[in-house]
Amino acid sequence: MNQQAFRTIPSVHKLLESPEISQLMTMYPRQVVVNILREVLENIRQSLVCKTDTLHRHDNSRGTSLNPPFTKGGMNEEERGNSGKEKEEKGEGSDQLKAIDLTPGRISCLVQQVLRQKFNGIGYAVNATGIILHTGLGRSPLADTAAEQIADIVKGYCTLEIERLTGRRGSRYQGIEKLVCMITGAESALVVNNNAAAVLLALDTIARGKEVIISRSELVEIGGSFRMPDVMSRSGACLVEVGTTNKTYLSDYSNAITEHTGLILKVHQSNFKIIGFTKSVDLKDLASLGKTHTIPVVYDLGSGAFVDLHKFGLPYEPTVQEAIKAGTDIVTFSTDKLLGGPQGGIIAGKKKWIDLLKKNPLTRALRVGKLTVAALEATLRLYLEEDRALKEIPTLKMMVTPPEIVEARCKRLTDSIRQETKAFLNISLLDGASEMGGGSLPGEVIPTKRISLHSETLHAEELAARLRSNTPPIFTRIERNCVIMDMRTVSDTEIDIIATALEKVSSQE
Ligand SMILES: *Cc1c(COP(=O)(O)O)cnc(C)c1O
Repeated sequence: MNQQAFRTIPSVHKLLESPEISQLMTMYPRQVVVNILREVLENIRQSLVCKTDTLHRHDNSRGTSLNPPFTKGGMNEEERGNSGKEKEEKGEGSDQLKAIDLTPGRISCLVQQVLRQKFNGIGYAVNATGIILHTGLGRSPLADTAAEQIADIVKGYCTLEIERLTGRRGSRYQGIEKLVCMITGAESALVVNNNAAAVLLALDTIARGKEVIISRSELVEIGGSFRMPDVMSRSGACLVEVGTTNKTYLSDYSNAITEHTGLILKVHQSNFKIIGFTKSVDLKDLASLGKTHTIPVVYDLGSGAFVDLHKFGLPYEPTVQEAIKAGTDIVTFSTDKLLGGPQGGIIAGKKKWIDLLKKNPLTRALRVGKLTVAALEATLRLYLEEDRALKEIPTLKMMVTPPEIVEARCKRLTDSIRQETKAFLNISLLDGASEMGGGSLPGEVIPTKRISLHSETLHAEELAARLRSNTPPIFTRIERNCVIMDMRTVSDTEIDIIATALEKVSSQE
């Protein structure tokens, strides 16, 4: 019987001539398709050698399981429906063979699944999670002007490191430095790959082999194994903890100062909160303590807001301007958190220290590329007019969008979904809370409106998975067997994408 089954497996040659496989070769390199096709056919042969009960066990399963890949139950939704007919026409005798689908359509689908897994790199996605700075989804989306600036410079050459007037070699940091100084009032600035790199560079330059004083309440872990004590030991600095978890006084710092002190480090508690019986030292007092002892004070601000969010009913977050004004020697912050730009870390502060950082050979290893320079310059330029920044930087815009506007977006989505789809997916409008994400504004939520989807026949996990396998993928949340879509992080142009995907997902039933 297995012999008979083997003979029903189409040849590579024949499959390559089929329209289904030919179609794949317009999307992927021919040789790659051929290799994977061989692999898939070999898997099918291997599986046929296995016991028949394996086939039957999976016969009634639904979903996209690849294992075993050729049973009816494992069929992918995309080609479900176009292959059943051909199979019957073959008129295979045994029950086992009836369960097998070896049509070019089915096989090309299996090949495509493998191809997708192998080639699934970065791609555009819809964020319906309501988490504004979703690190998994690339943190900050960029402003139009930033995207245009990238597009403008990438295809040809650009003035990354050259002086137009003299034709001499210039500095790639110049444009950004000028803008940061204008916006924040800092004397000097430098940009590196991210804020983690900024902190590392500051510690390595100023405190290598010296002591760094830090409050016990600020020995934080940022995530992705970035822990303050580890970064310090990596930079060759020696950690001197002062105060307690909840209370640190100015005298704790001053008592710890010795001839070995390299710098005083303050870290913003950006991803957690200590409340209750607490005391921390005012930045101004810390800065003047440093000045008295000629010890630099470094402030890792984390998110680095340029706009006072308090004005918009959002929780208070210290701004870079305030930190500079308080007399901090060096302030470091991310450019893809509250700032809403591309990934990067800015180091701003007193020229004397920034000049030292610029000379550190590590700076070369941490330097940013032209794409970052282009996008960051464009983003920073928007901050020269706060109104423009709030209107054009997506991260800021999403944060300050009132719930009524989000609700209108929800309604527009519901209105554009067809009746048949609505019959399959119970759709309701819910109040909810968006989160800042990205380790910013912990515990703070922004009131929002969300759409809840519930199907009698389809589990929420499966519905969410189908939305993720849409092109483009749509990311949602799951709560109590409902798929939840927070429209705060969805742009107006994405409403149609979601509506179409929901229709597709529902018609698969
Ligand atoms: C986020 C954060 C970092 C790390 O910044 P990246 O830009 O993600 O490297 C460092 N320190 C603090 C306080 C942060 O909030």
